[in-house]
Amino acid sequence: MSDGAHALVTGGGSGIGLAIAAALAATGYRVTVTGRDARRLERACAELPGALPVTCDVTDVSSVAAALTTARERSGPVAVLVNNAGVARTATFEKTDDTVWDEAWRTNVLGAVHLTRAVLPGMRTLPHGRIVNVASTAALKGYAYVSAYAASKHALLGLTRSLALELAATAITVNAVCPGYTDTAIVRDAVDTIVARTGRDRSAAEAVFTATNPQRRLITPDEVAAAVLWLVADAARSITGQAIAVAGGEVM
Ligand code: NDP
Repeated sequence: MSDGAHALVTGGGSGIGLAIAAALAATGYRVTVTGRDARRLERACAELPGALPVTCDVTDVSSVAAALTTARERSGPVAVLVNNAGVARTATFEKTDDTVWDEAWRTNVLGAVHLTRAVLPGMRTLPHGRIVNVASTAALKGYAYVSAYAASKHALLGLTRSLALELAATAITVNAVCPGYTDTAIVRDAVDTIVARTGRDRSAAEAVFTATNPQRRLITPDEVAAAVLWLVADAARSITGQAIAVAGGEVM
């Protein structure tokens, strides 16, 4: 279904989202790349054949509606939706106030809800549809110091599984990819936080993240993109409601 079909990636201007947008564009999709930072989106799309940058704050229903109008006018109904936009704050539970809980819920869960609700009517008119939610191994297990993040990613996986069942009689599949620690700004910022708060040197701080992966390394964004490409392929039509861990064996 890749030939000119419309794929929309939220948070596609950086990190994992950018790798997914690039992989979809290279496979022949007309890709809409969304995020809040217009300049970052412009830069990202300059490198991607035929990609359209559209600013969109996933927490804001009117922003989502406006972005979808622009994207559909150019490329038609969305055949592939990748809900990738996400935030991760690191703090002890006792220092995690409601602002952090609210941001995690509104971005990591309601963001996917808003986009999915907005694209579904159009997606239902197409021969196939694919929704891929970028969750995390934190959707499958707990981690210390990221309680709001882990709770929000567990919720995103619950949404994925329930919606997959609700849409099982259609040609739309709904899945989650669950990366382990991946080499992007989110992990680099967390390393900075550890260095600032504990005075550890950088390699010791980085080891906190590589140690959880039995392969003792960070995942690369391209590896996550490859899993998404597999899930959106026609041959994956029987794969729905799944949580695909891309994590070097950290969860099984
Ligand atoms: P980045 O910080 O590079 O990407 C996050 C993206 O989300 C940014 O492009 C940002 O764009 C966008 N974003 C954040 N808030 C909003 C919002 N309100 N509206 C629209 N876009 C928003 O980090 P990653 O690439 O690592 O993260 C991508 C996804 O992967 C996230 O969902 C994250 O939880 C998940 N993940 C990451 C892992 C890791 O170790 N890196 C591991 C497992 C999962 P902008 O600021 O322009 O809006």
